[in-house]
Order: sequence, then C-alpha cells, then structure tokens
Amino acid sequence: MALEEKREKRPPVTPMMIEEEAALRNGSRGLPPGPWAEAAGPRPRTTERHIAVHKRLVLGFAVSILALLAVTMIAVLLSVRFEECGAAADGPPRTGGNGSLSGVARQPHGAGQPPGRPEEDARGGEAVEEEEEEEEEEWQRRRELPPWARPRLPRHLRPLHYNLMLTAFMENFTFSGEVNVQLEVRNASRYIVLHAHRMHIEAVRVAEDKLAGGVRVARTFFYPQTQVFVVVLNRSLEVQKSYNLKIIYNALIENELLGFFRSSYVLHGERRFLGVTQFSPTHARKAFPCFDEPIYKATFKISIRHQATYLSLSNMPVETSVFEEDGWVTDHFSQTPLMSTYYLAWAVCNFTYRETVTKSGVVVRLYARPDAIRRGSGDYALNITRRLIEFYEDYFKVPYSLPKLDLLAVPKHPYAAMENWGLSVFVEQRILLDPSISSILYLLDVTMVIVHELCHQWFGDLVTPVWWEDVWLKEGFAHYFEFVGTDYLYPGWNMEKQRFLTDVLHEVMLLDGLASSHPVSQEVQQASDIDRVFDWIAYKKGAALIRMLASFMGHSVFQMGLQDYLTIHKYGNAARNDLWNTLSKALKRVGKSVNIQEVMDQWTLQMGYPVITILGNETTDNIIVISQERFVYDSDTKPKDPARGDNSYLWQIPLTIAVGNTSHISSEAIIWVSNKSEHHRIPALEEASWLLGNINQTGYFRVNYDIRNWKLLINQLTRNHEVISVSNRAGLIDDAFNLARAGYLPQNIPLEIMRYLSEEKDFLPWHAASRALYPLDKLLDRTENYNIFNEYILRQVASMYLKLGWPTNNLNKSLVQASYQHEELRREVIMLACSFGNKHCHQQAATLISDWISSNRNRIPLNVRDIVYCTGVSLMDEDVWEFIWMKFHSTTAVSEKKILLEALTCSDDRNLLNRLLNLSLNSEVVLDQDAIDVIIHVARNPHGRDLAWKFFREKWKILNARYGEALFMNSKLVSGVTEFLNTEGELRELKNFIKSYEGGAAVSFSRAVETVEANVRWQRLYKEELFQWLRKSLTQ
Ligand SMILES: [Zn+2]
Repeated sequence: MALEEKREKRPPVTPMMIEEEAALRNGSRGLPPGPWAEAAGPRPRTTERHIAVHKRLVLGFAVSILALLAVTMIAVLLSVRFEECGAAADGPPRTGGNGSLSGVARQPHGAGQPPGRPEEDARGGEAVEEEEEEEEEEWQRRRELPPWARPRLPRHLRPLHYNLMLTAFMENFTFSGEVNVQLEVRNASRYIVLHAHRMHIEAVRVAEDKLAGGVRVARTFFYPQTQVFVVVLNRSLEVQKSYNLKIIYNALIENELLGFFRSSYVLHGERRFLGVTQFSPTHARKAFPCFDEPIYKATFKISIRHQATYLSLSNMPVETSVFEEDGWVTDHFSQTPLMSTYYLAWAVCNFTYRETVTKSGVVVRLYARPDAIRRGSGDYALNITRRLIEFYEDYFKVPYSLPKLDLLAVPKHPYAAMENWGLSVFVEQRILLDPSISSILYLLDVTMVIVHELCHQWFGDLVTPVWWEDVWLKEGFAHYFEFVGTDYLYPGWNMEKQRFLTDVLHEVMLLDGLASSHPVSQEVQQASDIDRVFDWIAYKKGAALIRMLASFMGHSVFQMGLQDYLTIHKYGNAARNDLWNTLSKALKRVGKSVNIQEVMDQWTLQMGYPVITILGNETTDNIIVISQERFVYDSDTKPKDPARGDNSYLWQIPLTIAVGNTSHISSEAIIWVSNKSEHHRIPALEEASWLLGNINQTGYFRVNYDIRNWKLLINQLTRNHEVISVSNRAGLIDDAFNLARAGYLPQNIPLEIMRYLSEEKDFLPWHAASRALYPLDKLLDRTENYNIFNEYILRQVASMYLKLGWPTNNLNKSLVQASYQHEELRREVIMLACSFGNKHCHQQAATLISDWISSNRNRIPLNVRDIVYCTGVSLMDEDVWEFIWMKFHSTTAVSEKKILLEALTCSDDRNLLNRLLNLSLNSEVVLDQDAIDVIIHVARNPHGRDLAWKFFREKWKILNARYGEALFMNSKLVSGVTEFLNTEGELRELKNFIKSYEGGAAVSFSRAVETVEANVRWQRLYKEELFQWLRKSLTQ
C-alpha cells in the first residue's frame, strides 16, 4: 500500500505523523513465535465485568415482565444506552424472538432489496435467553473472555477455501452475496467466530463436508466490538473434520473509501459509477464474512454477477462468463493461490484497457476511464510495469505468481495505491501520465508508486507478514525498492544512493526524533490499532533500516538472502525473525558471522535513533572518543515510558569513518559501536585532518563532532567540496540543521555550512538544504526579524540562480530524456529564489502568468509550473486567482489539476483563502482526498496559518467523520495543520481544543502537542542566538 506522498515544492515536513508508541513490554510482543500459537485472550477489564453484571440484572428484569408494553419501552431505551457505551458494553447482543437476527449491520437502503433467498434461519426463542445466561456465567467462571470478545479470532478453526458469489446492483448501490467457506477444525468447539461488519445476514447453514447431514445452528449474533459474527451450534464440530459454512447476506456499496465502495467520474457530460474494493487492512469483513487476519491464508473462487453494461475484474482472470436473457452476466474467476483476505479485490466498472505481455507471458492490462485510455495516459505505466515485472523476476529469482496483472486507475481512493494481488488499484494521479504536460516530479511520483506496488506482489502478496506488528517488513521493503527499481528504469538517476537520503532518511529522522515516537515494529492487539501501524515510521524507517542492513551485509549477499527468504516462505506468512535467520545464513555462506537478529532487534524494537558524537582527543596519539545517546528534539519532554529513561537506549551501530585532508580521503574504517562511550585508535590522523562519520549516510543515525572538526569540515566544503561525497555533503547539511534545532550544536554552524552551496552543482545537497531550511523558515516566518533570515538565504541562492537561469519550454522533448539532475537542481534553486523573494524570479513568474492569461496558451515550462502558479497567485491580484480557479475546473489532466488547486492556497488574500477552505469540503468541487491537502497548504502559508487552524477546529467533527476511519489521512491532517504552530498562545489553543474535542486521532494530537512545545521552546532558547549571528554575518 502506498500512502499519499508528494515531493512538493516545499517539502512536507510532518514530524507529527507518527502514531502511538507501543512501549516495549519485557520483550512480549503480541504473537508468540509459532504463527498458529494460541493467542492469549486478555482478561476483561473491571469496568467491562461491572457492566456485564449490571446488564444481566437489567435484562433479567425486562424478560420477567416482557408482556408489559411500558417495560418493553424501558428495555428499548436501556439497550440504546448500552449501544452508546460502545466498546465498554460486554456480552453478545440478543437474538430476536423469531429467528431474525438482531445486532445486524444496517439494512441496504433504496428501492428494490437485493433478492435474498429464503433459507432456514437460526433458531430463536425462549430457550435462547437462558442458554446465553448460562454461557456468559460459564465464561465468567473460567475468568476468560468468550471467543467472540477476544481481540484476535480464536484459533480452533481454519478456513481452507472460499466460494464467493456476488451480485452487484449498481443502480441502487447494494450487493448480495453467498459465501461458502470450507473449514478445518483444529480444536472441538460449538462456536464459529469469523469477521463480518456492516452487513445484513439473511441465512446461515453449517454442514459436514461432502455429507448430507447439517449441523443445527442454535443461534447467531453479531458482536460489533470485535466486528465478528458468531454462529453457535447445537453440537461441537469435530477435530480433524472439515465442514462447510454457508452465509447469505447483503450490504451497501458504500459511498466512502473502504470495503466495497463506489466512486464516479463524468464522461461526455454523463456521470458514470464504478464499484471497487479496498480491504487492507481490516475491511474485507465489510464485503463478505471471512477470517480477516493475514495468517488465515486460503484459496478463493469468486463469481460476480452484474449488468452486462459493466465489466467485472478480480485477482484472477475470468474463466467463463454466463449471460442471462435479462441483460445480466456472471463472471466466474479462476481459483486464487493461497492468499490473505486483505489482498482480495474486485471491481465493477465500465472502463476500457490497453495491454502488454512480459517475456515470461504475464498479461498486464491497464484499466481506466475510456477517455484516458484513448489519450494514452496509461501507456507509460503499462510500459514500465512490464519492465519492472521482468526486473523483479530477475532480482528475486521467483517468477510472478499469477497469469495476469491488472492495474486499475480509479478517481477516488484512500491511499495512493493498493497492491491487491493481480488487481492493483491506483488513484488516477498516481498512475495516469500525459507526457506533454507532466513535470519530472510527477513522473517520479507515478514511477515510484508503481515500483512500490509491484514489489508488493512478492513482499506482501506472495509472502505476507504474520501479523500487523511487522507491517514494516512489507512496507519497508516496498519503499526501499522504490529507489532500487527506479534506478533500474533510469540508471543515471542514482535514486538509492542519493534521493533516498532526502526523501526517506532525512524525513523520517524528523519524525523519529520526537520523544513520543514508537518502534518500527509495533505491538498491535485491537483491530482499532491496526490502521495506525501504516505510518511513515513503518514505511520510511523500515526502508532506512533495510538500506543500512543491505549496506553492512553487502548488496549481493543481501540479494541472495532475499531470494532464499521468498523461496522458503512463498504462499505463506513470515515474521521478522524468519527474515533475520535467512539473512544470517546467507552471510554465513560467504564466511561472515553476524547475528542479524541481535543487531536488528535493537533497531526495530527500540524507538528513535542514536546521535553519535566523535571527539578527536588531542592529547593522546590517534585516539578518538565515540559516544552514543538517543537523539531527541525536545530534551525537556519526559520519556513516554518513564521506567526506561533515555539513558538506557543503546544500539549496535555500524559506524563507518573517513579521515580526510584538504585534497583527499586518506583512510576509511568500519567500527561497531555498542557501548555508551568507546575509545578507538584511528591511524593516519594528522593535525589538519578531519573526521567524517557515516560514509555516504548509509546508517540510520546522526553524527556530531567537536566544533574544531565541524570547522575543518566547513573549510573543506568551501575550498574543495568534491573531496566529500555528494551523499555526505547532503548528510552534513541535514545533520547540522537538525542538531542545531535540537540544541546539540550552535545555531550558526548549519548556516555556515550552507555558504559553500554557491559552488555546489549537484542537486542533492541543494535539496537537503532546502528541506532542512523549511521547518526553520516556518519557525521564523511570522517573526518581526524574518527579513534578516530571508536576506541571508537569498544571498546564498543568488549566484547559483543567476548561473542556472530558467528552463525553456521543452514541450516536444520527452521528460525521460531530459537531464534529471540538472533540471531538478534548477527547479530547486528557482523554488528557493521565488519563495524567498528574489526580484528577478518574481518578475519572471509574473511575466509567464501574464503571457498565459493574455494568449490563453500555457507556455510555462513543465518542471516549474507549480512554482510559477504559486508565485503568480501570491504576488498578483485577485483576477489571477480567479483565472487559476477557472483553469482548475476546466482541465481534465490530473497532474495539472492538482498543482492548480495547490497554487490557490498561495494567495496573500485572507478572503480568498477562507473562500477556498470553505469550498474544499464540497466533494463536487474538491475530491475528498485532495481537501486535506488544501487545508494543509493553507496552514503552510503564513497568511493562512491561523485561518486553517481555526477552520480545522470549527470543522473537526465533519473532518473526523469523513477521514476518521482512514486514520492515516486523519493524522496527516492533524499534523499538517498544527506542525508549524509555534507561539505560546497557539500551544494553549491546541491544548484547550484537545480538552474539548470529541473522538478520533488522540495519538496524532499528543504528537501535535510535543511538536508545538518543541517549536515554542526553540523560539524561547535559540531564536535570538540565530538572529544575532545573522545580523553580524550580513554586516560583514
Ligand atoms: Zn505498500
């Protein structure tokens, strides 16, 4: 799954997007080592027990005088009250008296109920009440939670195969389904507990497989707290036997973003609808009753019945289609291999497609709305997908497992994309590309999302993490391979060696430097915890750790290890220790002995990362002192787990060190640092030599030095920066800015380092500087001395801006052929110049906009369009805003639409910003997933920060209802709106708001408070120091 990520004109620095810390609890991490080990059910909390007892008394009373209407009313009222108790209520909801089920999900609305087949239904009635009472007491006596109330499914059953038959009614957005699950019994039990949520169940039948005899169903009920459906049988299912569970149900094709949902687009003035699924992580249960945990891999045979005006797609190819006379058709898909429920997918749409075939015969199709297919907007994605499947097959030495892969471009989706096996779904902006109007950045985004999803066909679909705590295993790999795979497509771009640093490493170290971060491997118990593991820590820290691992193992041994891992675990599940063991064995084969598990556990089970300090000891010969401590931005923040202070954090660190002097690097070494402080002898250390730690920044840590060494490094950069590698130049900039922000280093050091940039011709160090400056800029942009800072930055940028000039309009030239490094460097410098107010840059932007308006021809070079639009909107009058607004409505190209919308947030005019904020919630105007970006971008604009913050507070209920379930979007919004608040007043407002707010995103808010507190603290402690140095420096 790819989260929405944009490589924006100003980088999206979001230190609060991390989710809740899962504190280490004495090494107990949820699931015991064996994947099928019995999950220990936690005992009910006192309040739950209390409520259960209370409820029993009330219900007993109600039953005894049930005949009286008045009392019935009271009982109804009470049951409403219990529903409001939500998660605190305990015990199964009651079944109805006549066999109809209570506690079921909402009935489908609208005209024409889906045709359900009448079947014998669950038994109800007088005996049931009594039975339930007894059962409840029995569980209480055993001091155990009943199987339906446990956070994980009980392990006594295992699904082997599902037959799923669906009918989609697109005219009223409902669907009906019949699922037949073949079950293997591992332990005898009277209960069948499986996931089902928000559906109406019409009939349930259990039969011994291949035998006529049915097993009578005593009763059935939903237990909404754990999103399960429970079938209670008259007798126990027998061990080793296999049974068939048949459930007939119906539900809505929801107008939201999860489960089986609908979305629409306009073609030739007519609105068309499509239905598509998003099951990861826990939404398959909304589309069919199933064992919705990744470990329950099974085979699936799906059939979809729909009107013949639509086509249907699923993971596997269609085997046969059966047409009916009334204009309906049923597509029967081939059986899947063993797979997890959350990778299942289907779609009902009237898209068209283009097709290609890989060398090994995999048919790849790209499905999209017909106008996009006709324009060829899917051709780029189709072409690179074919090449990438070939790349991965070669790299992993495991062939792609299915006969086909469909890529589906949909207008609305909660994530950038989702890697369903054989049917990957992408939001249009991450897969459609019109080469005549796309920037390099856009091309890069599309490319990397596709590389990511394709990697998942192996890391995820084929080998699936056992449980969600290790979601980083699949997401970290897919994110890391975004860079490796893009290097395969564009060998000159050096993505893994260079851009990985700014886009992944530097960015995640911002998040992971908060005291309230969490380990990359997070404990997950409740279903409600699962969404929060999909955050940048899992993706980016996961990727950064994998890169560090690959680097100290050596890339070819690492690759061999991955090949073994995939081969051993294909069609199954694996946990992180399986990976560590396989990699250790691979190292052993080449004669190296490293216990990878021991090393990596420290990095994956501990939150945060170390800062290494290297002190050159001048009194003793060639001896240096190396110490490590946990890096945190706000050292005032108390650690979240007070039992373990920051002092107890220790890592085994593969520290590489280079010794250099004015003309060259004289030696390199690797030192494994595992203590708080160590002495090491460094040969060839001379009077004027400098030390540089973390060569090419392959390690996940920061390095600090004594001031003398920093000065030597600055001197080296100024005299001849090429002695130090491009990655280390970028690394020094990022480390210095962040060490200063956290108070480890005087504020002037990073500003002195960036002086050498006037001679820097490589993109990466500029990019690192631009990203590192961004949070600093946001800390200062509303202060009265801001112009001093502004002036300093402009001076650093001026000469390179003059040297590089503006790009010409290269509409005819394919982007792919353009020089990526050079164009990206020029773009970065123009961006800095325009946003810090370089006069020439402003004039140039205004001229280009005026030309567009007067000629109605857009001749603005593609790669800088977003900068020009934004600068134009911020400098020029309201007419320009209206013009851009009009273009936003009229353009059909998704890439263009997005940057036009973002440009509107750049205005200085508060009325316009308010108007835009209010329009952003109108789904007809702004797509749901884009509204968040509008609000966040207004918050980045110093003229709009307070407006966005106020708007956010006023609309919180609406926003939370809209995005709450897709937690990632919600936390992105919370962090985006609050991360640059930095005054005492704003901190108070934030705390007051949190006190009064209702529901959702609690973790994001505690993160927000820590970030704003750190901002306020920086202002108090370091702002003046910075301005003093700047004043002095500007007058020199
Ligand atoms: Zn992913």
